[in-house]
Amino acid sequence: MCKIFKSVENVNARYIEILKDELKIFDENAENRIKELKKKILEEREKVSCGKCGSCCRLAACPSSPEDLNEKAKRGDTFAKEFINTFSLYEDLSEAKSLFPEYFDAVNKLVDKIYFYHCKLVTEDNLCPKYEDRPQICKDFPDNPLEIYPMNCSYKKWQTAVMDDILRVKAITDILKLEN
Ligand code: SF4
Ligand code: SF4
Repeated sequence: MCKIFKSVENVNARYIEILKDELKIFDENAENRIKELKKKILEEREKVSCGKCGSCCRLAACPSSPEDLNEKAKRGDTFAKEFINTFSLYEDLSEAKSLFPEYFDAVNKLVDKIYFYHCKLVTEDNLCPKYEDRPQICKDFPDNPLEIYPMNCSYKKWQTAVMDDILRVKAITDILKLEN
């Protein structure tokens, strides 16, 4: 759930291809293109429903420790504040791994230091008891197709469908930064 970006080689290679394309066609319309692409990405997301597998509530991976999150929260970081108020750290990593071993291994392979958390509220049938009032971070998940998603997350379909578009947004944004 925290921002753990994919660093897999094929994504990086595709990003370079798209960046080269975008450099050729870059013009004053770039910011509008970003807006249109983001709109399309969100529209595509609406076509997918949560599969209620419970992975994101039971095994949230984050590169920040509880201490880091508390520090960030004190400095006004809203995401960190919501995250640490929602999730508890797994003290026993074997417990975390036993829930979703494939996801646990995949995240550990891609990220050097990672912490696994869980929400104590999720019900046995993977529902949120305060669904309407759930934290914004839960409402937003998944919001970035460049993150690593749980293996059985139904939004992986969306991730695959919009991957080129999100890489295009990143490429145009990176070019705009260089221009300014
Ligand atoms: S608050 Fe609800 S949606 Fe958020 S992690 Fe907990 S059970 Fe899941
Ligand atoms: S991991 Fe994906 S499919 Fe599973 S509960 Fe979370 S959002 Fe829904």
